[in-house]
Amino acid sequence: MNRRILIATSNPGKLREFRHLLAPLGWDAVSQSELNVAPADEPHLTFLENALAKARHAASATGLPALADDSGICVVALGGAPGVLSARFAGEPSDDRRNNAELLRRMEHAPDRRAHYTCVLAAVRSVDDPEPLIADARWPGEILANPRGAGGFGYDPVFLLPDLGKTAAELDPAEKNRISHRGRAMAELARKMVACWS
Ligand code: IMP
Repeated sequence: MNRRILIATSNPGKLREFRHLLAPLGWDAVSQSELNVAPADEPHLTFLENALAKARHAASATGLPALADDSGICVVALGGAPGVLSARFAGEPSDDRRNNAELLRRMEHAPDRRAHYTCVLAAVRSVDDPEPLIADARWPGEILANPRGAGGFGYDPVFLLPDLGKTAAELDPAEKNRISHRGRAMAELARKMVACWS
């Protein structure tokens, strides 16, 4: 029988990706909103601290094992911004279209287009788990001047993968899961879940 794990996100794009990745491991991913858990604050300066805070908050509210990610895009010409503020780059409430427009505006005259997505995952068995499982990965690319593609979410339409000649929004979901920051961090976390939680 599958075990249940709470996914501490209210982002439907991320939830879809996690469901896909966890199902083959025998985990049913339940979303935070399905169980009426309010989103945690993300006050920290690092992806790692935010991910752990979100996982602990979700485990505390539900008594279930919980998995959280904190992720974002870091742009070289912007000194690493928007980074941990990626979801709220154009202010609150979070809005992908406005965030992309803000990024393109700030990058208008930037010759250096390098950027990467980063993802840190934290999984806890309970709120006071002294041994959280942690995994992280980066996904390098470049910021385009104009959006392309209808898939994915967030900054995917402006995130070009030069080797593939496609934006992340032009990849099919399975391909994105295989090579993305979240997909590769999840593969590492999955290995740790099998080794440490079985
Ligand atoms: P948070 O981890 O919920 O604080 O927000 C992460 C934000 O980073 C998202 O709202 C997106 O703007 C951006 N982001 C993270 N991963 C991706 C991705 O795979 N595609 C597009 N945008 C992403």
